Amino acid sequence: MNKHNFYAGPSILPEFTIENVAKAVKDFEGTGLSIMEISHRSKEFISVMDQTRQLFKELLNIPDGYHVLFLGGGASTQFAMIPMNLMKSKSAYLDTGSWASKAIKEAHNFGEVIVVASSKDANYSYIPGDLIIPTDADYFHITTNNTIYGTEIKEDMDVNLPLIADMSSDIFSRPVDVSKYAVIYGGAQKNLAPAGLTFVIVKYDILGKVDRVIPTMFDYRTHIEKGSMFNTPPCLPVYAALQTLIWLKDIGGVTAIHKINCEKADLLYKEIERNKLFITTVKEEKNRSIMNVCWVMNKEYTELEKDFLDFATEKGMVGIKGHRSVGGGRASIYNALPMDSVEALIDVMQEFEDLKA
Ligand SMILES: *Cc1c(COP(=O)(O)O)cnc(C)c1O
Repeated sequence: MNKHNFYAGPSILPEFTIENVAKAVKDFEGTGLSIMEISHRSKEFISVMDQTRQLFKELLNIPDGYHVLFLGGGASTQFAMIPMNLMKSKSAYLDTGSWASKAIKEAHNFGEVIVVASSKDANYSYIPGDLIIPTDADYFHITTNNTIYGTEIKEDMDVNLPLIADMSSDIFSRPVDVSKYAVIYGGAQKNLAPAGLTFVIVKYDILGKVDRVIPTMFDYRTHIEKGSMFNTPPCLPVYAALQTLIWLKDIGGVTAIHKINCEKADLLYKEIERNKLFITTVKEEKNRSIMNVCWVMNKEYTELEKDFLDFATEKGMVGIKGHRSVGGGRASIYNALPMDSVEALIDVMQEFEDLKA
């Protein structure tokens, strides 16, 4: 049976990426060696690193003055590296979900943290508006896509202090004006590569302003100076990221994929709104994520939740159980997820409605 992969992360990757990585695991570009057993100092791998960095910059239109780093440690390590490198005494955060609150928790280790607003009161089902951001903070941190709750900040914010964004689950899903950010970071395992790779886009001139001692591995300048080769980078995930970027460029880049992403999300939200069984958890249309679509059962049908998930699983839908903190269902519809899969999920929703409502 055809499987439709809606996992939230690690998650679906393009066929192109999987095929080329499989080939490189056997024989990396004619070297007679596997990508897993070749030195990161070899000219072949250095070329992979250079191409990946180059294409990353090209596809996101990253201006001069920014560096792109490929590190280990996941987005969760960045929760600490951000304040370590950038917080002199005070930082500001927007609390839009559990990843955001984990970032806030780490920041507390390095100075004063102002939580500008939080949507925790409504289980993070919206993005707070009318923000008053303290002008004396060293930076303002946001999570653009809240993977667990299905909310998203879909426009680049204008703020008067360095803007830092966790874009783990929406990087490359839409055009981004990188010049509005000081740092953009994320785990690559949602939209780019297998787990093990963390990307960081950092504006050079915001660094070097803190007095604390930063351990070598946690200092962005270390990795800038060494081109992400201070220590052994995650070679296979970097190679996979390169394949995904080549695929993305080939289909027209972020502008083209954004259009498709919006179509996929629109179709699915429309069905959830139409279907008697389901309701969306995110009421405000402008807050609805185009990457993670969340729903719960309509009040009169709550007892059918498990039945629906079982029914959908039988029909080949994988990974649509909602996160335990929201319940219901969640379909992660990242760049690589084809429209066919969205249509298949919609068919299943309609079939189940015909049976039960
Ligand atoms: C998945 C995710 C993380 C955690 O990433 P790790 O690489 O596992 O540390 C952080 N933030 C967001 C928004 C995520 O979706």
